[in-house]
Amino acid sequence: RNSKLKQLQIQRMQLPIYLHKNELMEVIEDSKSLVIVGETGCGKTTQIPQYIDEDNLTRPGKIAITQPRRVAAISVATRVAQEYGLDMTVGGHVGYSVRFEDVTSPKTKIKFLTDGMLLREALKDRLLCDYRVVILDEAHERTIHTDVLFGIVKEAQLIREVKKLPRLKIIVMSATMDVDHFANYFNCQVVYLEGRTYPLNIRYTTHAQEDYQTACIYTFFRIHQVTPPEDAVLIFLTGQEEVEHCAHQIRLLAKEVDGPPVKVCPLYASQTGLQQMNVFNGTPTGTRKVVISTNIAETSITIPGIKFVIDSGMVKVRTFCPSTGLEVLKVQRVSQEQAIQRAGRAGRDSEGFVLRLYTNEQFKRMRPSSIPEIQRANLNSVALQMFALGVRMSDFDFMDSPPKNAINAAFVQLKLLGAIDSVSESITLTELGKKMVKFPLDPRFSKILIMADQFGCLKEAITVVALMSSDSILLNPPSKKEQVQEAREKFRSPYGDHLTLLNIYRAYENLKKDTEKNWCQEHFLNTRNLLYVKEVRTQLTEICKSNGQKRSSCGGHLDQLRKCLLAGLFMNFAEIHGDTTLRREKQYLTLDKGQAALIHPSSVLYGIQPAYLLFTEVVRTSKCYLRNLTIVEGEWLNEVAPEYAASRNFKFNN
Ligand code: ADP
Ligand code: MG
Repeated sequence: RNSKLKQLQIQRMQLPIYLHKNELMEVIEDSKSLVIVGETGCGKTTQIPQYIDEDNLTRPGKIAITQPRRVAAISVATRVAQEYGLDMTVGGHVGYSVRFEDVTSPKTKIKFLTDGMLLREALKDRLLCDYRVVILDEAHERTIHTDVLFGIVKEAQLIREVKKLPRLKIIVMSATMDVDHFANYFNCQVVYLEGRTYPLNIRYTTHAQEDYQTACIYTFFRIHQVTPPEDAVLIFLTGQEEVEHCAHQIRLLAKEVDGPPVKVCPLYASQTGLQQMNVFNGTPTGTRKVVISTNIAETSITIPGIKFVIDSGMVKVRTFCPSTGLEVLKVQRVSQEQAIQRAGRAGRDSEGFVLRLYTNEQFKRMRPSSIPEIQRANLNSVALQMFALGVRMSDFDFMDSPPKNAINAAFVQLKLLGAIDSVSESITLTELGKKMVKFPLDPRFSKILIMADQFGCLKEAITVVALMSSDSILLNPPSKKEQVQEAREKFRSPYGDHLTLLNIYRAYENLKKDTEKNWCQEHFLNTRNLLYVKEVRTQLTEICKSNGQKRSSCGGHLDQLRKCLLAGLFMNFAEIHGDTTLRREKQYLTLDKGQAALIHPSSVLYGIQPAYLLFTEVVRTSKCYLRNLTIVEGEWLNEVAPEYAASRNFKFNN
């Protein structure tokens, strides 16, 4: 253990940031607020909290460091706990807190949390008095929670000063240079940390690529066949499915071509820390490492030894469209800023090469920087939290304000859900709204849980909501489609995906502990995600209890559950479109805004054409798809959401 610690200490001293430690600490000491910019990997996230902690060990108050991604919060906290030494385990002096998981103790002084969790803490104490320093990290990602926190910490700092309470120091950290916006907002100085730089050779394709996934694989093998295997390759794709698919193809093809062996490391947000650690590990001499990643490797995680970057130029983005009322997962072009960050992952240790699978013209047409999430996301959840804080979105000191129509849409939705009440100018949370805020969930899911009392199906509702709040428990290896279908056939519900997932979870719940692993393997289920669902269930059950809800179960009467789901998701109601009888694949229209969409091929309802259904998610590729579905009866809408049905002119006819 001692030698490991020594080794870690040596590594710490080799980080570029170490050279600037003293100056940096002086500026931090002297500033109320500060923006720190530095290349990904230079040591901001892991070192700065430790420097501040070492400097003032005796001062009361904790240091909070926010991360937009849950997995970054966990892995960075784990790393820092190791560097900190003593017992080397996370949860002591160094801890973390993410949704559904709190690994801290009264001893914790350095606390990594997701930005969403710090915002939840602000609901309890708007002045964040637990902390003497708040570090908003990865600020360039501009997540909705970070953007709201900007305003919250700025206000907390001011009020603490006025009330003569212990001061709050604010540090904003970013990997991109364009930080004037932050500095203006906080009216503060910027510190630029130099990193090591080596030349980067950037190449574009001469023609636009239609199929970027195949282009990635092709480009990889071109590199693989002519360069020494010590040079690691990093490929950027958009999502878990694409990453796994590409990994599978490369593994297959690598066996067929002449060349050194290949170690393929997929990397995406829903992996465990342990799986991700794989990318930090070296490979045997003579073996090539290829990391295939979503945009998580852009700035959140640093991988040593990358010589080549292959950039598909695409990214998956969640976007809310106020005019259709839908939140859509869409694959689109990255911004120039993102492309530059991706390129910067190559050549950290020596000259690097970047292969952009788009033309120089296409690059020039990309938007310079990404749109902040607050300007493109559904604001329901955050608006509810802000109402709970007693602030109105329209009066809040945003760095960049969300669009008016999105604020309005959130307002309308929260009102339809019964979470807020407005009498002339003043808006208040209803009793229902107060209960809803306690859940770390989209208000529609919170509503499902609260309504479950009426339908006597709390147990089942919690399971479905927990399943919808975690990454998919279904594994779908592309080469085993038929086996998968056969193995899971017995769980299939004629009523759709939610009930099918419920059937799986019910079977899982009744297993003996030592049979879980095999059972999951046999049915192509993700053990880790199931375990996570179980943890989420426990926490949601606690919150329901604290809201005074009584246990209930509908057993085999699953109509009750379907109605209950509709009671929260009534805005996600879709009807079959009557005019397309000739088409094989029938279109649906969302009742809310009449958006046309198809049933997603992954749904158990694919190929079945119920008259009415509710959906959980919309995915847009070349077409618009509805995913995670349950069949509902038209008349139920009048029953569970009469006002809404009336407002949409919905008339059920047999
Ligand atoms: P920054 O926040 O500036 O991007 P970090 O503080 O996250 O940089 O990382 C600094 C260095 O620490 C990285 O370059 C990497 O080499 C190392 N590092 C960070 N996390 C881990 C980890 N979980 N395992 C191994 N090395 C890590
Ligand atoms: Mg960092």
